[in-house]
Amino acid sequence: MNGSFKVGNILGIDIEINYSWLLIFALFSFTLASHYFPLEAEDFTPTVYWSMGVITTIMVFVSVLLHELAHSLMAISKGIPIRKITLFIFGGVAQMEEEPQQPGTELKIALVGPATSLVLGVIALGVYQLLPPNLPLSHVVAFLARINFVVGVINLIPAFPLDGGRVLRAGIWYFLKNMLRATRYAVIVGSIFAFFAIALGFFMIFQYALIWGIWYIFLGWLLFQAGQASYNQLVFHQALKGVPVKQIMSAEVQTVPLSLGLDKLVDHFYRHRFGAFPVTLHGDLKGLVTFHQLRNIPQEKWGTTTTAEIMTPLEKLITVSPDQDAVEVMMKMAAENEGRVLVIENNELVGILSRTDMMKLISMHMLLGTEK
Ligand SMILES: [Zn+2]
Repeated sequence: MNGSFKVGNILGIDIEINYSWLLIFALFSFTLASHYFPLEAEDFTPTVYWSMGVITTIMVFVSVLLHELAHSLMAISKGIPIRKITLFIFGGVAQMEEEPQQPGTELKIALVGPATSLVLGVIALGVYQLLPPNLPLSHVVAFLARINFVVGVINLIPAFPLDGGRVLRAGIWYFLKNMLRATRYAVIVGSIFAFFAIALGFFMIFQYALIWGIWYIFLGWLLFQAGQASYNQLVFHQALKGVPVKQIMSAEVQTVPLSLGLDKLVDHFYRHRFGAFPVTLHGDLKGLVTFHQLRNIPQEKWGTTTTAEIMTPLEKLITVSPDQDAVEVMMKMAAENEGRVLVIENNELVGILSRTDMMKLISMHMLLGTEK
């Protein structure tokens, strides 16, 4: 889910909407206009129902945005930069540049979001009490009161990475004085909630509440995935934090000449079992040839094609310096969807860093236990 577009900037934070949100916008407005509001109030015209549906959906959007802004402003006040807020299908994500360094900070950042939703719910409820009961606006405000209470309460479920799970992590972190281990426990609790939701979903399917059952299974699975992903990301960052590229790159680099025929190139792949070879001419780096590129050429053409014709030329490759931070390089590789980068110092090739090298380091950290 990478496709997002920017809709504005509030206090230096870019506000983005994921394309998936547009679909939900339409679905939500439709459901409200055709199913929800006609049951709540019987005597309005379709135009009024549709206006109510669209306005309510926009206000739900504003509510979710305020919830995320509250997290963001608290984070900024604690010195953690926030680059952007992205609004997805189910709520939003405020992108923190780094994790909080203290459990107290995490607690405040996590709690202020649900608190904002609950306060918005109370305000909406207050406004509803002041309005005459049968206006279209009264029904809109009543719905906003409900949805903000629901958002506030659901986010307080202690399932990491929901806000409540972050509150739980902050608590465990405070007692154990170890963030990684606290995250693991919070993710385990989150997974229990996720599996409970999935089990409930299957139970509902057997009780013939098919659609609700599928929703519970889907949301449970999403929650489980999100928990695992945030734990892995944390381990990743911890393992690679402060590690320079030269420490994990493969320094023994086998190169192949530019004019090598593909029928000979295949022998190199068989012999060394690398996924790629840097290509050189008189010792100068010219490009990189991968196994994938070789495989794309039909075998009958291997005798008449040279490596130079299928390789990626140097100017199109990502090159990094041996002293660069491995985390930084990893982010760059992920963003460009590259499996490996060439490490260059003083115009000389000194190594190759592949995704496999990083994964090995991370699994070593996991086996030896970084959770000291
Ligand atoms: Zn939140």
